[in-house]
Amino acid sequence: MEKPEVTEIIDILSQKIANSSSQSSLLEVGTVISIADGICRVYGLDQAMSGETVIFDNGVKGMVLNLEKYNVGIAIFGDSSTIQEGMEVRRTHKLNSVPVGKALLGRVLNPLGEPIDGLGPLETTEFRTVETKAPGIMTRKGIHEPLQTGIKAIDSMIPIGKGQRELIIGDRQTGKTAVALDTILNQKGKGIFCIYVAIGQKASTVAQFVEKLKKYNALEYTIVVMASASDSATLQFFAPYSGVAMGEYFRDNGEHALIVYDDLTKHAQSYREVSLLLRRPPGREAYPGDVFYLHSRLLERACKLCDSLGAGSLTAFPIIETQAGDVSAYIPTNVISITDGQIYLESDLFNSGVRPAINAGLSVSRVGGSAQTAPMKQVAGTLRLELAQYRDLQAFSQFASDLDAATRQQLVRGQRLTELLKQKQYSPLAVESQILILFAATQGFLDKKDLNMLASYEKSMLEYFRLNHSDILESIADGKKMSKEFMENLRTILQDFDKKFENHDI
Ligand code: ATP
Ligand code: MG
Repeated sequence: MEKPEVTEIIDILSQKIANSSSQSSLLEVGTVISIADGICRVYGLDQAMSGETVIFDNGVKGMVLNLEKYNVGIAIFGDSSTIQEGMEVRRTHKLNSVPVGKALLGRVLNPLGEPIDGLGPLETTEFRTVETKAPGIMTRKGIHEPLQTGIKAIDSMIPIGKGQRELIIGDRQTGKTAVALDTILNQKGKGIFCIYVAIGQKASTVAQFVEKLKKYNALEYTIVVMASASDSATLQFFAPYSGVAMGEYFRDNGEHALIVYDDLTKHAQSYREVSLLLRRPPGREAYPGDVFYLHSRLLERACKLCDSLGAGSLTAFPIIETQAGDVSAYIPTNVISITDGQIYLESDLFNSGVRPAINAGLSVSRVGGSAQTAPMKQVAGTLRLELAQYRDLQAFSQFASDLDAATRQQLVRGQRLTELLKQKQYSPLAVESQILILFAATQGFLDKKDLNMLASYEKSMLEYFRLNHSDILESIADGKKMSKEFMENLRTILQDFDKKFENHDI
């Protein structure tokens, strides 16, 4: 008689086991058959679900990722060196879930939702499944409320609305995290909860970030989820999903939240690592075939819900790091196509002192325009046009010796506007102040000023309005369209201020 194949024997045996009466107990516990690089294969968990949490004999947790015929592939969350062949693994019958709720605010957590800030256990009883479906079209509403970043260049030209997904993209050290941090600082007192998911960064960098949040009293409305560079690829891959589950809690309870994924390049790399170890077939740039789905199912969960569901929102700022400004690599193009626009940061601009180093020509917000307040729209239209003209002229005017008056004027205006859009870190500006200073610039009040005077001009002008014309600031903040008379009045006040400023009378 011919010898049966090993697999046939396994088939026969597993059928026998399945038919036996003690079936259920046998299916709940499996045995590790191999372990390497944070991934193990387990025999015996035939009924396990994809994404289910399992617990090893020594208490370490894992997540079922591959369901195969004779074994399941499990990614280990904790220290995999403590796991050995032959060890028992138990099902929990629960899909991965994390704690959610307001008790998480002000805390630093690992992707499993366990505190790592030494401030004791979380006081919450609510949990949410990490992988859930994004809301469908009928349950959503168009983006219509602004989410102010407090950064002049963004709020004026690349406006962001609540529920939008706006990509922050740029090379390393171009100020990507700084944009996200300033936006979080600007949410103070605006009823928007923030979640910062740090993926694959140095723990010390994240610690500095948390320090800054503390210093500017922003930690109290922020949750930090961290999987540092020294954590396993599984934890890094898991982090954004656990963050988004925490954000969805606010969204589904009719509140507003902002989530920052810093950054998704490292997230894709950790997923590639896990996938290759699970022996999934590699595709372009060795990423697995479903890497697009990895990010699309994450970012689709950020949205604005309709009124019947409480009108909550979750806004997402994914961050992508490019190499030498190459936005056409695999992961950058994927995320660009999933998001509603991008803020493109450039090394050249950053090094020439334009900070935030936003390339206004390549940055775009596809939906935020409808969320911009009316007065901001009025000043931003002119601003965008004048800057575009300036960019066109700038290149060729470098070689031209005598320019006509109109061209010279455009260059002067462009320089002033570029200078004005520079902004220091940790100093987000209220929207009415932004509108005021941009109005002054587009009306030509700055054209005769020295470039190095602009910062002090801006400061004393805002101070002047705060002290003498707070009603004007209030009515701009209200968001009503500025009428002709209103603008005329504003111009008169600006002229008065201008005179005083020139005479050092302020
Ligand atoms: P990485 O690629 O390392 O994550 P990044 O793109 O997130 O870097 P940041 O860490 O935000 O960049 O910023 C890089 C440096 O530039 C920091 O030292 C930061 O303080 C400085 N910086 C960022 N924005 C500004 C700004 N508007 N004005 C002055 N300095 C800034
Ligand atoms: Mg960064």
